[in-house]
Amino acid sequence: MSTNDVLLEVKDLKMYFPVQKGLLRRVVGHVKAVDGVSFFIRDGETLGLVGESGCGKTTTGRCILRALDPTEGEIWFTKDGKRENIAQLTPAQLSPYRSEMQIIFQDPFSSLNPRMTVMDIVSEPLRIHKLVRGAEIKEKVRELLESVGLQAQHMNRYPYAFSGGQRQRVGIARALALRPRLIVCDEPVSALDVSIQAQVLNLLDGLQKDYGLTYLFIAHNLSVVQHICTRVAVMYLGDLVETGSSDNLYHRPKHPYTEALLSAVPKTDPTKKSKRVLLEGDVPSPVNPPSGCKFHPRCSYAKDICSQERPTLQETVPGSDHYAACHFAAELSLRGIETSQSASA
Ligand code: SF4
Repeated sequence: MSTNDVLLEVKDLKMYFPVQKGLLRRVVGHVKAVDGVSFFIRDGETLGLVGESGCGKTTTGRCILRALDPTEGEIWFTKDGKRENIAQLTPAQLSPYRSEMQIIFQDPFSSLNPRMTVMDIVSEPLRIHKLVRGAEIKEKVRELLESVGLQAQHMNRYPYAFSGGQRQRVGIARALALRPRLIVCDEPVSALDVSIQAQVLNLLDGLQKDYGLTYLFIAHNLSVVQHICTRVAVMYLGDLVETGSSDNLYHRPKHPYTEALLSAVPKTDPTKKSKRVLLEGDVPSPVNPPSGCKFHPRCSYAKDICSQERPTLQETVPGSDHYAACHFAAELSLRGIETSQSASA
C-alpha cells in the first residue's frame, strides 16, 4: 500500500466498554465493540463500512472522530502532508484536527436542535471555530444552504418545518461549514424514504467532487453503498472480515458473511430467482464472543478449525487489495450479486 495518498489509517483499533455489576460497580467483563480493526482511506475516496446493527461500525466512526477515546490502537490522519497519530492526543492537541473531520448523523429528526433556526444550526461550527464574523456569517450560511439544494429563505425556519430529506440536507450543510476533508456518514439515508435516499446519495456524490471530500460511509446493508463507495469493508462482531474494491467485493466475495449480506441485496431483474443465504441464530454477544472465527456458529461452511483458530485478514489474490478473514477464502466458491451481463444471460 502506498501511504502517499492515504488520508486516514486505522491500526488495530480497539474499543472495549466495561460491564459493571453490583453496588460497588465492579467490572465483570467488557463489551468488545471494536476488537482490533485496521483499514485505510485514500484521499478523495469513499470507504463503505457495512455490517449488521451492533457490529461496531458506529463505534469505529466515533473513535476516529475522537468522540470516544479508543481503548487501544492508532488513528493516523494526514494534515498538511504530515501524518499524526490522533488516537492519544489531548483535547487541546486535537483542536486543529476537529475541523478536518465531521459527521453526518443517521437520524435527521433528532440530530438537529428543535429550538435553533437553520441559520443558528449551520453557523454554529463557524462561530465556535471563529472562522467567520458578523454579516459574513449570513452570506456563508446562504452559500452552504445553496450547495445542498436549499434556499436562503430556509435560514430562519426551525427543523420541524422541513421534511426528513430537507433536514438531512441541513445536517450536511452543517458538516460542510468548516470545509472538512473527511466526513463520517453514519447511516445518512437509512431513516429516509426510499424515494429520498437516492437524492441524498446523489447530493453526497456531487459534494464529494465539488469539495474534494473523503467519506467513511457507514451502512447496515450493502445495497445502499453499492454505487457510492470506491471500496467496502465488512464488519462482524467488532472485527473486519473482508475489505476490497466495490467490484471485487460485490461480484467475487471471499467471506461467507459477505455472501450472506449480498444475498439480501434486491435483484436487478426481479423475475430471476436466486437463493437467499439465511444466517442461523442471532449475532452472538460481544461480551463473550465465540472462539476462533467469531462467525463460525452461523457459518454453513464451518469446519473444526473454525472454532479453534481465529483467521486474520489475508490478501485473497496477490496485489488485488482484496482481503478476507476466512480459513477457506481461497477454496470457497461464493456467490456475489449478478452483473448486468449475467442478469441478461
Ligand atoms: Fe466460515 Fe470458517 Fe471461514 Fe469463519 S473461517 S467464515 S467459520 S469457513
